[in-house]
Amino acid sequence: MQAELTVDLTAICDNWRAIDVLSAPDVETGAVIKADAYGLGAGKVGPALLAAGVTTFFVAQAEEGVILRQAIGAGPRIFNFSGLMAGDEQALSEYQVIPVLNSIEQIEAFKSGPCAVQFDSGMNRLGMEPMDVARMAVQIAKLNPELIMSHLACADAPEHNMNMAQLTAFAAMIDQFPTGKKSFSATGGILLSKDYHFDLTRPGIGLYGGLPFVDAKPVVRLDLPVIQVRDVFEGEPVGYGNTWTAGKASKIATVSGGYADGIIRSSAGFHLYADGIACPVIGRVSMDLLTVDVSALKTVPTHLSLLNDVQTVDVLAELAGTIGYEILTSLGGRYNRVYVNGT
Ligand SMILES: *Cc1c(COP(=O)(O)O)cnc(C)c1O
Repeated sequence: MQAELTVDLTAICDNWRAIDVLSAPDVETGAVIKADAYGLGAGKVGPALLAAGVTTFFVAQAEEGVILRQAIGAGPRIFNFSGLMAGDEQALSEYQVIPVLNSIEQIEAFKSGPCAVQFDSGMNRLGMEPMDVARMAVQIAKLNPELIMSHLACADAPEHNMNMAQLTAFAAMIDQFPTGKKSFSATGGILLSKDYHFDLTRPGIGLYGGLPFVDAKPVVRLDLPVIQVRDVFEGEPVGYGNTWTAGKASKIATVSGGYADGIIRSSAGFHLYADGIACPVIGRVSMDLLTVDVSALKTVPTHLSLLNDVQTVDVLAELAGTIGYEILTSLGGRYNRVYVNGT
């Protein structure tokens, strides 16, 4: 039996609307659904967001754009952050995926059609350096890009002086391009201030219920089925490496779910929940299994909850020494995915 991953599409749409009202009415709110909608399923999330009113989507690879186009049909715009890489041409044109051109090389490789251009405002990851922008200004203007964009490195830290430095750098670069829409902010930047919004925003994690959007509705629930329950005596070890030994007689449940399913092995101090009662995960996380001390439960239910309103994606991330983004995108292929519908 597989664990059950419940994805609340209504909550995703509500989160998109909640982010949308943070910017002025004339600012468009797009949706980033790269990496299979942060692991939750672009084929389901895309159509739900489309129905909620999203008309501009972003993916990270041409191949993701193809899958998304097949899911949402013709009409809405799909931009591809990685732009135009060797071999992408046919997929991009056949499925109307718009490349975000990131370099002089990509601009020179681009033949015709709609495009966007990315400027590097200081993150030094993707996009053209200010010097290249100045040198290529005529060619860039001739492309008549639908969007000129850049990306913030430290938007989740509102006090970081990098934010203002990048804003200043971006403003100086776009000054040379009065026409065409500008886009600067992902979830973190949207929350900074309206100065960072420009014409089109690009929220991702906030849609999926993650920080830094503290007001997000939770989107995922994960319930792991119990395979076996046993009693252990004081002094008996549990799991690989004998890392846990019963300090007193205990009841141990073995549940289906492990690091092959994205439950990070180095996580420390997390729980599985039975009707609000927190049962500590003990011993090592193995590939397919977790062991849980369920001594506090009168009866052991068929499933124990790993992700819920108490132990959210970000709580689990903190206990695993990572970020919610990584927890979401690590959710494995062995879950039975159940979608709660709605717009
Ligand atoms: C991933 C990404 C986003 C979305 O970021 P979130 O922090 O998830 O909102 C926006 N823009 C670019 C360029 C990205 O790579």
